[in-house]
Amino acid sequence: MKRLVILGGGESGVGTAILGKQKGYEVFVSDKGEISKKYKQVLLNNEIDFEEKNHTESKILNADVVMKSPGIPDKVPLILKLKEKGIKIISEIEFASKYTTANIIGITGSNGKTTTTLLMHHILKGAGFNVGVAGNIGDSFAQQVAQESYDNYVLELSSFQLDGIENFNSHIAILTNITPDHLDRYEYNFEKYIDSKFRITKNQKATDYLIYDADNEAINNWLKKNKTKAKLVPFSIERELEYGAFLKNNNITININKDTFNMPISALTVKGKHNVKNAMAATMAAQLLNARKQAIKESLEDFEGVEHRLENVGKVNGVEYINDSKATNVNATFYALECMDRQTVWIVGGVDKGNDYNDLLPLVREKVKAIVCLGIDNEKIKNMFGNVVDIVVETAGAEEAVKVAHKLSESGDAVLLSPACASFDLFENYEDRGRQFKAAVRDL
Ligand code: ADP
Repeated sequence: MKRLVILGGGESGVGTAILGKQKGYEVFVSDKGEISKKYKQVLLNNEIDFEEKNHTESKILNADVVMKSPGIPDKVPLILKLKEKGIKIISEIEFASKYTTANIIGITGSNGKTTTTLLMHHILKGAGFNVGVAGNIGDSFAQQVAQESYDNYVLELSSFQLDGIENFNSHIAILTNITPDHLDRYEYNFEKYIDSKFRITKNQKATDYLIYDADNEAINNWLKKNKTKAKLVPFSIERELEYGAFLKNNNITININKDTFNMPISALTVKGKHNVKNAMAATMAAQLLNARKQAIKESLEDFEGVEHRLENVGKVNGVEYINDSKATNVNATFYALECMDRQTVWIVGGVDKGNDYNDLLPLVREKVKAIVCLGIDNEKIKNMFGNVVDIVVETAGAEEAVKVAHKLSESGDAVLLSPACASFDLFENYEDRGRQFKAAVRDL
């Protein structure tokens, strides 16, 4: 019996444990922190051996294969020891993909993964496909491979998931964009992060497709210097393309088969240029899978959007409140500010992952009337924008931030929470931050 050791008892770890057990592995789950009650119960119910608050090396270094949760950095001593011993370390998607023949649509990028993944799933479901969705959303891929029988999966793939693949392949890969993010995990080396994202295409064959943002410099440079076997399917909002998707007179135009696809962007439920791109990518993938044009259009017209992504919270005294808590990097916030069509009180800050705010300066100058900092250390924001915006106020909680924003705004303005930073200084995670923001708005 082969021994599968799983490091990390979260969603992907527990899913892998279930699948591993089903496939005849001797499974052991080890988590250095506490495993949540919910997952402990699942492990107990499935009679899977586990430990928490500790890594017992004697029970780990005897593994045949190790599944490492994406959250565990490569540099920790235990991982280095495993590598030294030549034990294979893979990610959940690598492990799970061995046990399914389903058609895979893999989606990665710095921003837009979740939105594009959910939109893609919505379109394929609407077009009658037997399709599951996984990767940071709902049940893990591994668990679904163990328990469901989908013919297609739409997978959201982080660069950490991609770092741990060997043979995993997506028939259709979507690369939404590449901009600096998580550089702390890549030795502050942007090239390394780019290479990690492009791992999505490493096993693609000539019959596979790579859908990508042709306006993105990092992507274009990589494609110039490197090779992929996949057929390239570009999208652009800046120029017309002979093959691919582009914008013409505010119409999405797609030329990838004989039958040109046309749709006005006003008919999309999701707003903003970034969402036009996400819609282009998902539409082309659906077309490549032969989904009907009419079905695709209907789904684009009734997709509800995703919580914490430019989510409209409502109006108070004529001021529009928008929750973009998921904007944890500068590029996401760039698109949020770009979307704003009114004077904006901008709530920003948190844990800075090495942000360069320069790209935001023109938009801030044009649209932001006041800045409300929401973080423990706001020095960088104050230094960067103090000369550009007259009012910069520091706050240390969602309720306080919303109250201050309420005071600084007047009818016709917007209040935008788009932090450009991670949330861990003041909140559990971005969802917690977004929910507290919404609750505070409702209490005004
Ligand atoms: P991810 O899963 O990659 O983090 P999300 O769909 O959760 O992406 O969106 C994260 C943030 O990025 C949100 O603030 C959202 O409004 C913004 N965003 C969505 N799509 C794009 C895109 N194509 N380019 C830039 N920003 C985007």
